[in-house]
Amino acid sequence: MQRITVAKGDGIGPEIMDATLEIILAAGAQIEIDEIEVGEKVYLSGNTSGIAKESWDIIRRNKIFLKAPITTPQGGGYKSLNVTTRKFLGLYSNVRPCSSLHPFVSTKHPKMDIVIVRENEEDLYAGIEHQQTDEVVQCLKLISRPGCEKIIRYAFEYAKVYGRKKVTCFTKDNIMKQTDGLFHKVFDEIAAEYPEIENEHWIIDIGAAKMADTPEVFDVIVTLNLYGDVLSDVAAQIAGSVGLAGSANIGEECAMFEAIHGSAPRRAGQNVANPSGLLQGAIQMLIHIGQTEVAENVQNAWLKTIEDGIHTYDIFKEGVSKQKVSTSDFAKAVIANLSNKPSILKPVTYAKGVSLNLPKYQHKAAAKKELVGVDLFVHWAGNNADQLSEKVRIIGTDKVQLSMITNRGIKVWPEGFEETFCTDHWRCRFKPVGVNTINKDDIIKLLSKAVWVGIDVVKTENLYEFDGKAGYSLGQGQ
Ligand code: NAD
Repeated sequence: MQRITVAKGDGIGPEIMDATLEIILAAGAQIEIDEIEVGEKVYLSGNTSGIAKESWDIIRRNKIFLKAPITTPQGGGYKSLNVTTRKFLGLYSNVRPCSSLHPFVSTKHPKMDIVIVRENEEDLYAGIEHQQTDEVVQCLKLISRPGCEKIIRYAFEYAKVYGRKKVTCFTKDNIMKQTDGLFHKVFDEIAAEYPEIENEHWIIDIGAAKMADTPEVFDVIVTLNLYGDVLSDVAAQIAGSVGLAGSANIGEECAMFEAIHGSAPRRAGQNVANPSGLLQGAIQMLIHIGQTEVAENVQNAWLKTIEDGIHTYDIFKEGVSKQKVSTSDFAKAVIANLSNKPSILKPVTYAKGVSLNLPKYQHKAAAKKELVGVDLFVHWAGNNADQLSEKVRIIGTDKVQLSMITNRGIKVWPEGFEETFCTDHWRCRFKPVGVNTINKDDIIKLLSKAVWVGIDVVKTENLYEFDGKAGYSLGQGQ
């Protein structure tokens, strides 16, 4: 018996959760349920996190969380409970299978069967944002080696255990050579440990276009958080409907399972919503807790019900569907099909007693780290980079001098182009000259002099080499 935490959420949440639980309990799921309240009511009671402390205690104790969609009120500083839960519980892996149900649910991609494994904790989702000048705001994209290793290993282990043939990595490392570059590098390292699984890398833009056009050439896709967010909704939609896809959020200790769609407030309370997305999340949960036979039975009964043409309004199509049913009647139809298998759609079999081999991350030996320069970001309202260089060069010393200025990444001094549009946010790069080196005291001196002469430094970034390799990007055009 597995104790799980259940939140029925908002909008259509309670209806689809009731249907889902009814189905899995009828199939013999060995679960005991602790129900908690999350979402709109909690937010509107003045708790900006949408969840009470006692509820966290229950989630952390049970470790397995089945969650219906919730409504995040607009504005008012309310934090997304999904993002908070993923990060608090270290749910680094978001797994979204998207396969078509042709010819029973219309899709342009009848052979599509892909799984998107999305990194779930890092990237621009760290939400570290700052306004630095009148014209410029920034969001920090943080990518870590442990984050990359964990998610990429998860993707290969998933492929191995579920008999998938290929893992594809999507990044934009032709532009983001440090962040996406690290993800790609780690992908190549880990792929080498799985010679039996094919691997490939695509630049995300053309890769996403290919996936939207010819999804059948992909199998498992692993990617960073933001790309994965966008891509997995596209994948679910082109497979048939966002209402059909579930998702697992897996961590080392805890896991959360949900539908990928939202709370569809306009459909709430009408007993019309499709419970399939949440049911797919619940099936992933049953596999995760080792109740594979129940999971298999429910999935096959669900496929048979779809094949029987018993459809909720969102996938109902005249000529293909046979019966338009309510949420609760759909659940009854799935229950009536338990122990049945589909005959046209492919029935599933889930191997028993297998688990993903995911060793804890081992921190690597530190590299030799050497300070080799500093970028001072300056707020300056002028528009002539040569003028700025005259002002900024004054703060240089015998040892450390201005070597370059960029604006939004493009080099504007020395030898910039008049045509380049400039904002009020300038990166002034200082490097040691000749045989000199630079240390932290030199940076403090630069900053002190900047204060004396009235240069508004809004941020500094130290430039390092790690084992002799530059850990920073060049200016574009440099
Ligand atoms: P939504 O997914 O709720 O709805 C988009 C469209 O799909 C609507 O037309 C809706 O009627 C339809 N739809 C969604 N699920 C369906 C289902 N199971 N059956 C039938 N039709 C379905 O997206 P939205 O309207 O952008 O967001 C509504 C609320 O949900 C917002 O407050 C948003 O913050 C929240 N949301 C929550 C989650 C979550 O809790 N995981 C995810 C996304 C959005």
